Amino acid sequence: MERVEQVGVLGGGQLGRMLALAGYPLGIRTALYDPEPAACAGQVAPLLSAPYDHWHLLQQFVQDKQCITYEFENVPLRTAQWLAERVPVRPTPRALELFQDRLSEKRFLRDSGIPVPRFAEVDIAKPLSALESVGCPCVVKTRRFGYDGKGQVVARSEEQFLQAVRLLQAQPLIAEELVPFDREVSVLGVRSLDGEVAIYPLVENHHREGILRLSLAPAPNASEQVIAAAQEYVTRLLQSLDYVGIVAIEMFQVGEQLLANEVAPRVHNSGHWTIEGAETSQFENHLRAICGFALGSTAPRGFSAMVNLIGELPPVEKVLAIPNAHLHLYGKQPRPGRKIGHITIRADSPGQRNNLLEEVFALYPPGRVCPSRPHSSQEHAQG
Ligand code: AMP
Repeated sequence: MERVEQVGVLGGGQLGRMLALAGYPLGIRTALYDPEPAACAGQVAPLLSAPYDHWHLLQQFVQDKQCITYEFENVPLRTAQWLAERVPVRPTPRALELFQDRLSEKRFLRDSGIPVPRFAEVDIAKPLSALESVGCPCVVKTRRFGYDGKGQVVARSEEQFLQAVRLLQAQPLIAEELVPFDREVSVLGVRSLDGEVAIYPLVENHHREGILRLSLAPAPNASEQVIAAAQEYVTRLLQSLDYVGIVAIEMFQVGEQLLANEVAPRVHNSGHWTIEGAETSQFENHLRAICGFALGSTAPRGFSAMVNLIGELPPVEKVLAIPNAHLHLYGKQPRPGRKIGHITIRADSPGQRNNLLEEVFALYPPGRVCPSRPHSSQEHAQG
């Protein structure tokens, strides 16, 4: 196999930035491609800024790369396919295609034996048949381009359902049962080019207004049964797609059951804690996988918590004075609802983790969510 020294990343946001940073110690050079000239990864690695259908510049971009990956799943499929005719794209465009669309995503999961909430395609000509399938209350979501709770509306009656459909109907829609979850969790797995699979500990996630605020890893009080199910699901997904790289499955936990909500065929926000909190970060393992190297250990280093910095920053010097707090700023201008950084704390016990988390929340009140009482974001899904 040709040695991979240069990786092209489609997308130049914070995920691209952290991938680029992880490449340096491995001697892997990354370059980013993003239509946005001010994309924040451009501060740490070369950035080529052009539309995703600028074939001439894409040709130039791909020329000296041995592998292409992507840091967000809304890269146009055509672009990924075009690049894949020239150089390996990992994960494959097939993964992108499946997980760009909530309907093909849910069908794939169901057909792979991975439990999902009840779901149905919304036929605009007869929308109520979707409501009949999923029941009420439910969530109406756009099939594509939804993220961080955008493009979704909760409906608690037939009337609200029809209203939601009218509001969103410019795009193809899916309806899902509103899951009365106990908590949200995610599992990240990685598969190498040789087929080796490694899985990170289960993570507990807290969202507000559809945006991830806090991750705890390993997830507190996860039973062996739940952990085994998560591991089985992610392994099944990685193997059935001959997948190479990191994948994240976001799930609802209801009792001891897990229901998959969403798959991200890329490095994921709920894996940022791995930079300091695991033997090998998700970013390094993604690069190891796509470049054909052996995977690094996914074992946790103690107990971690990751707090997203959204819209505004805490006093930086005070954060840095907290023992075992690690600050990551993405070089982005603060704007309401925008992810501009994160803080990871690493502790030797769950109790110490909670104490340190309190210190972070004192400096950054918007980050405060109550880990012991999972936030139900059901009221927050929004259009
Ligand atoms: P998503 O964009 O699908 O990741 O949804 C964002 C957030 O909305 C999730 O993290 C959940 O908190 C909530 N949510 C989405 N779908 C459902 C559902 N079917 N039942 C309950 N909550 C949901």
